[in-house]
Amino acid sequence: MSVGPVIGVIGAGQLGRMLALAGTRLGARFAFYEDVPSSTSETLGSLYHQQQLQAFMAAVDVVTFESENTPVALVEQIAQHKPIFPPAKALFIAQHRGREKSLLRSLGIQTAPFAVVTSLAELQAAVETIGLPAVLKTTTEGYDGKGQAVLRRLDDVQSAWQAIGNRELILEGFVRFSRELSMVAVRSQQGDSLCYPLVENRHEAGILRVTQAPAAAVSSALQAQAEQMVKAIMDELDYVGVMALELFDTAEGLVANEMAPRVHNSGHWSQDGAWTDQFENHCRALLGLPLGDAGMAVPHCAMLNLIGDLGHWQNALKVPHAQVHLYDKAPRAGRKLGHINVTANTEAELIERLALVQRCLSE
Ligand code: AMP
Repeated sequence: MSVGPVIGVIGAGQLGRMLALAGTRLGARFAFYEDVPSSTSETLGSLYHQQQLQAFMAAVDVVTFESENTPVALVEQIAQHKPIFPPAKALFIAQHRGREKSLLRSLGIQTAPFAVVTSLAELQAAVETIGLPAVLKTTTEGYDGKGQAVLRRLDDVQSAWQAIGNRELILEGFVRFSRELSMVAVRSQQGDSLCYPLVENRHEAGILRVTQAPAAAVSSALQAQAEQMVKAIMDELDYVGVMALELFDTAEGLVANEMAPRVHNSGHWSQDGAWTDQFENHCRALLGLPLGDAGMAVPHCAMLNLIGDLGHWQNALKVPHAQVHLYDKAPRAGRKLGHINVTANTEAELIERLALVQRCLSE
């Protein structure tokens, strides 16, 4: 008879799948609440969903979610019956770019200058204050660069408002960064936290393509600055679980872009490059277990996302020091279908191996 704790996951995509792979090693079992209602629809209160939810809650000991679009009302409802981490407040803040940036600023964390606008007139006023170039984004539900426009000239303002407007938007000053970094960290129920090394993220067409761990030339001061930021956020929210903080590296220091209250694509490298991967550490936090070492187990590691189609992924199985992770998802343009982690002793070797894997996929 099984005796392990049951972790319930809201959502059943690749993040839930990888959480289950890691948590199973710790003797946990998993249940998935797959048919997640949207927060805007009335289905959340429907009899069907309430029955599904009751059955799910009865089956689990602790709950987590894999998407920042999980309805806050659903998380709050579950919280009345079962422990659920991260807390609903973290989700509430991360779902709205305006709330998120206000929280970051209140903690003394640098962000782009920003203004939340709800009309063309407000947008025009915000452009006057913030200046151009600037980035216009939806306040909610944007990801992978969707629902965004870069405003370069005054002429762009009206057309951008028409293209993505007629809803609440946020205008952000354009940050001149040299590279994009992220800090993945985990906090336990007792309030201890551990941080992974800063990693560099490279995007293609707005979607994360490669993460390199550790990022090149990270001084201990830069790592410490990023750790201080993420810890301040997690402590403020009484956070439990893994969080990712996306950062711009600029001449004036780190500027925070956004936070993700969940395991994150820029932490997938940790499955093959860290002593304890982000999925296991998230499960440890959920189960009230001691956190595991978030340091690198190899000198260098990179993660390559497989987007849209898998290419000749079988060829990558023949490459030494490359690990293939597939999500069992149907190919579709722009969809993340899997990733490959590559490890190496030097950065040069890492770049060479990554190039070899990319050649193999297209051959
Ligand atoms: P986001 O959806 O906020 O992660 O933005 C997607 C991408 O757009 C980021 O990874 C950056 O490359 C770019 N970006 C977002 N916000 C800004 C900004 N304020 N200044 C410059 N580039 C940005």
